[in-house]
Amino acid sequence: MNDEQLLRYNRQIMLPQIDVAGQQKLSDAHVVIIGMGGLGSPAALYLTAAGVGTLTLVDFDKVELTNLQRQIVHHYADIAKPKVESAKCNLLAINPEIDINTIDSKPDQPTLSKLAHKADVMIDASDNYETRFAVNCACVEQHTPLVSAAAIRFEGQISVFDKRLDSSPCYQCLYPTSGDEEETCSENGILAPVVGIIGSLQALESIKLICGIGEPLVGRLLIFDALAMNWRSVLLKRDPACPVCGK
Ligand SMILES: [Zn+2]
Repeated sequence: MNDEQLLRYNRQIMLPQIDVAGQQKLSDAHVVIIGMGGLGSPAALYLTAAGVGTLTLVDFDKVELTNLQRQIVHHYADIAKPKVESAKCNLLAINPEIDINTIDSKPDQPTLSKLAHKADVMIDASDNYETRFAVNCACVEQHTPLVSAAAIRFEGQISVFDKRLDSSPCYQCLYPTSGDEEETCSENGILAPVVGIIGSLQALESIKLICGIGEPLVGRLLIFDALAMNWRSVLLKRDPACPVCGK
């Protein structure tokens, strides 16, 4: 690590749990983020600033005016640009030292498997069940830790599924039936800082997984109620009959 890097990451390196060795792990790490919206924005911003060496951003949307209220990686001048391009440009403005790959299309299952294979951590910041189930399958198959979250209205939730551990549930264990009633922010609304909080937690859990510190959010679903300003933690068990990870 050169002098500028030691300065840039000084406030992290001074944490004994991180130190130079942990910062080097971050620098060597590759995180794939599915979705550059409300959750993906803060997740990508914090991982970039914290010095994760390689990010792959996946999204096939273009930036719209209605996104800017909460998708804080995109700026007004980015309207009509592909989200991954807008995000890449704004992230590199914070930290030009990291490598950013972009995928501006909807990934099929083989592509997701390849991404999971290359990733140290996958972040699911998508907004629909179809993508969440597909990303989960790829992560289970490749034994890649998955930091999964969702947020709507005044509520958010996050969990970590880590199939490197036998006891860990997968996303499908949690939702055995493929989400019949889909709810989206465009139909139900979302208060901006709620996705900021939950997306930031996705970055935090990813950093913990990469550095191997603390207690990852495996086997627990953390639920945030912004109006009551209340956090609940629900224990999650692996489903032995799960069609994806049960055997
Ligand atoms: Zn499962």
